Amino acid sequence: MLLISIILPCYNEELAIKGTYKELSSIMQQMGNDYEFIFVDDGSKDATFNILRELSLQDNCVRYIQFSRNFGKEAALLAGLQRAKGQYIVVMDVDLQDPPSLIPQMFEAVASGEYDCAGTRRITRAGEPPIRSLFARMFYSLMTKFTDIEIVDGARDFRLMSRPYVDAVLSLPERNRFSKGIFPWVGFKTKWFEYENIQRSTGETKWSFGKLFLYSLDGIIAFSSKPMAIASILGILLFLSSLFLIGFIILRKAFWGDPVAGWASTICIILFCSGIQLFTAGILGQYISKIYIEVKKRPYFIIKEEK
Ligand code: UDP
Ligand code: MG
Repeated sequence: MLLISIILPCYNEELAIKGTYKELSSIMQQMGNDYEFIFVDDGSKDATFNILRELSLQDNCVRYIQFSRNFGKEAALLAGLQRAKGQYIVVMDVDLQDPPSLIPQMFEAVASGEYDCAGTRRITRAGEPPIRSLFARMFYSLMTKFTDIEIVDGARDFRLMSRPYVDAVLSLPERNRFSKGIFPWVGFKTKWFEYENIQRSTGETKWSFGKLFLYSLDGIIAFSSKPMAIASILGILLFLSSLFLIGFIILRKAFWGDPVAGWASTICIILFCSGIQLFTAGILGQYISKIYIEVKKRPYFIIKEEK
């Protein structure tokens, strides 16, 4: 019998879970296939886990995984994907920002065999601070320039995937998991569904501006070595310009004599060069710190309880 797994990462979502569960259940029942919900409690500090346990006692379709602490949404997604038993797998937020009503259409697209994945993208960013939208746009265009993968602007993590697609995603062993890049990296054929941005049903976003900024840097580092190439190019440009300046100073001395001057400009040059050096050392440091995390081979998450 055909089984659909739905993975829902939850972090402090006590207000959202029940409403989402009800809406999803009614849609899945209308569809008529077997289904399982896998709620991943990512170290919530509120009543999230109690609600999940209660739901699992009432409904056999509800499974849960409880992490020993907050490991982040990427780890929660991975845990859910590893445990999903279905031939079709959905991942979505628990705050109803991802409209469950799209699932039947997404399922049709993938079940027909024409597509391996149904992705969603929001075409508006209504209700979002303008500065955040601006940085998001910059991030998407940087990603497209810096990497070979195409990250669709506004793509959400809300997807329905076939089993082979999920197995491909799971075959990537890296610790620095950046799903927005991993999904397009594995390839296959994705059909996109578009919708207007929906504001959170309850609670508030877990992503501060700073967190998002660091997350996007992680993404660039995980999928591109171009920042290191930029560091080398900066070095070469500075070297060439110093050759030009040396030539200029020799000529000036030879033809016009040279009164000693230029203390201020010397200091400026020293500051400029040491700034560039620190900047490029920082880029290298970012890659080294990621290598350090990979070689430690720590588990992606630790599970306290699951059902
Ligand atoms: N989430 C999580 N771990 C975290 C942060 C978020 O599992 O450390 C979950 C959260 O409960 C929600 C989803 O990831 O179901 C998306 O989070 P959020 O709605 O805060 O992000 P946004 O929609 O604002 O991008
Ligand atoms: Mg959300």
